[in-house]
Amino acid sequence: MQLLCGLATIFVLLAVLREQQVQAACGYANCPAGKANMINVHLVPHSHDDVGWLKTVDQYYYGARNDIQHAGVQYILDNVIRELLRDAKRRFIFVESAFFFKWYNEQTAEVKSQVKTLVKGGRLEFAGGAWSMNDEAAVHYQSVIDQFTIGLKALQQTFGACGRPHVGWQIDPFGHSREMASLFAQMGFDGQFFARMDWIEKTERLKNLTAEVIWKASEVLGQSAELFTGLLYRHYSAPPGFCFDALCSDAPIIDGVSYDNNVKERVDTFIKYIQEVTTHYRSTHVLIPMGDDFNYQIAAMNFKNMDKLIKYVNERQSLGSKVNLFYSTPACYLKAIHQAPLTWPSKAQDFFPYSTDWHTYWTGYYSSRPTQKRFERDGNHFLQVTKQLTTFANLTGNDVNSNLDALRHAMGVMQHHDAITGTEKQHVAADYDRLLAAAIESAQANARAALQKLTNLTNGEFVSCLQLNISVCEFTKNGADQLVVTLFNPLGRPSYEYVRVPVNNEAYIVTDETGRLLPSDLLPVPAEVQRLSFRPKIASHELVFLAYVEKLRSYYIKKSANPRSVEELKVETQMRSMNSIPKRFSEMHKKSAEENELKSIAIDSESRGEIIVKNSHVKLTLDSSGHLTKVEMNGVSENIRQEFYYYNAAAGNNAEFKNRSSGAYIFRPNGTELLIGRQVTFSIYEGTQVKEVHQRFSDWVSQVIRIYEGVNRVEFEWLVGPIPINDNIGKEVITRFTSNIKSAGVFYTDSNGREMLKRKRNQREYFKPNMTEAVSGNYYPITARIAIEGESNRIALLNDRAQGGSSLKDGALELMLHRRLLRDDAFGVGEALNETAYGEGVVARGKVYLILSNAEGTPSRYERLEQLQIHLPFWKFFSNATKATNKKVRQISSFNLPQTVHLLTLEPFNANERLVRLENFMDKYDANPVTFNLRPLFDQLSGEEIRETTLDGNLNLSEMIRFKFQPESSNVTKPEYYKTLHSPLLAKKKDSVSKFSIVLHQMQIRTFVIKWR
Ligand SMILES: [Zn+2]
Repeated sequence: MQLLCGLATIFVLLAVLREQQVQAACGYANCPAGKANMINVHLVPHSHDDVGWLKTVDQYYYGARNDIQHAGVQYILDNVIRELLRDAKRRFIFVESAFFFKWYNEQTAEVKSQVKTLVKGGRLEFAGGAWSMNDEAAVHYQSVIDQFTIGLKALQQTFGACGRPHVGWQIDPFGHSREMASLFAQMGFDGQFFARMDWIEKTERLKNLTAEVIWKASEVLGQSAELFTGLLYRHYSAPPGFCFDALCSDAPIIDGVSYDNNVKERVDTFIKYIQEVTTHYRSTHVLIPMGDDFNYQIAAMNFKNMDKLIKYVNERQSLGSKVNLFYSTPACYLKAIHQAPLTWPSKAQDFFPYSTDWHTYWTGYYSSRPTQKRFERDGNHFLQVTKQLTTFANLTGNDVNSNLDALRHAMGVMQHHDAITGTEKQHVAADYDRLLAAAIESAQANARAALQKLTNLTNGEFVSCLQLNISVCEFTKNGADQLVVTLFNPLGRPSYEYVRVPVNNEAYIVTDETGRLLPSDLLPVPAEVQRLSFRPKIASHELVFLAYVEKLRSYYIKKSANPRSVEELKVETQMRSMNSIPKRFSEMHKKSAEENELKSIAIDSESRGEIIVKNSHVKLTLDSSGHLTKVEMNGVSENIRQEFYYYNAAAGNNAEFKNRSSGAYIFRPNGTELLIGRQVTFSIYEGTQVKEVHQRFSDWVSQVIRIYEGVNRVEFEWLVGPIPINDNIGKEVITRFTSNIKSAGVFYTDSNGREMLKRKRNQREYFKPNMTEAVSGNYYPITARIAIEGESNRIALLNDRAQGGSSLKDGALELMLHRRLLRDDAFGVGEALNETAYGEGVVARGKVYLILSNAEGTPSRYERLEQLQIHLPFWKFFSNATKATNKKVRQISSFNLPQTVHLLTLEPFNANERLVRLENFMDKYDANPVTFNLRPLFDQLSGEEIRETTLDGNLNLSEMIRFKFQPESSNVTKPEYYKTLHSPLLAKKKDSVSKFSIVLHQMQIRTFVIKWR
């Protein structure tokens, strides 16, 4: 009896466990069962709906401008839902939450309830589920995580666990990043599918049955970043001849009494195709996508014909056919192959660059539309700032949420693979700009409300200036007298940063909140910037001062009547302020100064006409032609020459591969690169804080090289454009740094701003590439950093937006800054990438940072910290000083996270909840795991409870169960699952402090939801 009781308990427990698993695996329970000893064909009805491309987001949604492309997403959803309700066997997947929720929110209660039934039954399933199907080359991981967070949250709130996607469906992006696979795994996804791969690699993989792999998507995170990844056989379209869509002209299934009855031929052809596909995959299950761009606008046509196809193909089974056809989803296909005792090859690198023929490398879009790529980064920067400010100020309410959502949604749209990529039509690009600008304006309302609460400027304006990159701010146009600059630091630790404010050519004094005077420099805005035809004639100068901000701090600027006394003041206060610099900074300062001391003996003589510009950390040498030729810093010295070049763009008719044009997608230079500016005219400005070399290379290329006192990097602020096209030749402009470093063909590039990948010139991980395009075939996406190293020295370049880059020769690094093209490359956009503004070619301005260091030790540790500061510097808000009151201000703290821990996210989440992500930003080569206590952060955020979730914030980490796929060496025959490797944090306010202690391994991100109040 005792024993029986015990057994009963075990059964109950097992039943509970199974129930939990079913819930966690919602959707899988409803998968169609295949038949044993048959080829089970998973027909996957889908529609690929770009969130803007040839038409704007709204034109696509409403079906406007069908003269450009016949596409209306609202009709797709209307008609698909109606067709799904007609037959329980039918399935459909939907990907883009931006479109889905726009439609869903317009539906009646009855339709909403029907949709919920479809989702619950697995008949409508979400794949991907982010706001858009993001690009993978030019996106930054922070923005990818954000857009999954909002998409999956909306699905969770609307449909509960059944709305949660299990697979990624990245069918259209032009190449695939390793970090994306890693993020999918960290969000608890079971796998992903895509359609585009280098044509040689694709051929090889299909031949070798390696089109489906276990992607080991992190060098550090192990199984937490492993993801099953499958390549679709024939792009993402239906099999040739079987597109039943209104946009296609393939034959329908004609099964009545008719001379035209084609059932036998259609079934024969389909079965033959399936047999061919099967020979390229390991499993007896095959996935056949049934859809294409904006398909299913008249969904009855698609489903009626697929119903017939299924019926007649399966009828053949009675004659001995082994093909079994049914409606399915990618998740159900994945479940089927997970259950089979199969093993899979592994993959370690990424799928860049993507090439589709001998002359076609999709490496142009890495750099296309440089100003849009930068504006998107501004959008992310401001989104992080306003999310944090809204949280710190405890702002709540519908307006507050919708202001933030506006920016979250706009940023979700910007991640789309025709937005951040720059591969959309010009009018669509303009619409993206409009959308993002309006969303920033909405979020600005939150920022202002928060700052009025958090500072003593209870009526402060807190204006954001979005044109500071050309030293324009309406708020300072009258000369910045009685101005307050309120700085917000989005990082999780205090930082130093030099702040630049556009001013007139007058004397100013800068004070901090305590009235203490700060040293400052006044530098002219470069003549080339001042001459920009569209720039208002204000602010000829910039005021520069060093700010120290824990989280939030204001600095006061006012005009000074007597410039000379300001100069004296500078000298007098400088010593004082240096003494008050906190320890970490002053140590860094001191150490490097000593190192430089040693090296200064080896300085080349100035007698050869060389020019030296130096501070206590960095020494630059320019030759008599005005080019940078040598850099000394971090105790090492290297001959580094920096130059600008342009490639002439290939301009063919695209009729044959060899006639391919360079275009929005494709980079194809025509011949070798041409130097811009053999002789550079330049001037040098030496302040006490910053030294600047203003260089002019040509009428349309100029630059400022800057070194700041106490900062271990060299800044290159480039200005390129309008790119001349009066010779009728498109041009692609690069900056190149050459050195004597023997890099042996190896260089390192980041993956979406996180881990680094090792590249070898003219080589790939899996196959031998044809290098008929030696330049563009060696280009890789650079989202944050590219580096080379030799035996002693290492050079890293950090950038401020996504760009293409490479190391085409040992010791050299290049980044593509701007492109202006006169031909379309024939991949659908139908326009040349010839951006104009204000009646001329677009002018772009941006920054590249150089760090030279000793290759030994852990130089990349410093680069990583700099990378964070470049990505999320202080945000500047401007107000009139007259608005200051005597209000006592509550100090908000930076949480004082360990130096290597990045506050990746802090934002309002569900009602009474806050979302926090902490990331150890160090690589395994750079540092050790960090242990620290979350209690101070928890208390500061008025926490009541804390729970840990998957990366997207929507699934409790304890409930995450992922498919484990077996590697080729395995002989496991039963399906296995991954769970979290660490025990998830779950604690309440009353719990002891020790319960809040956490460990962050290198590159690990942990996500927490804090219930407050
Ligand atoms: Zn697309």
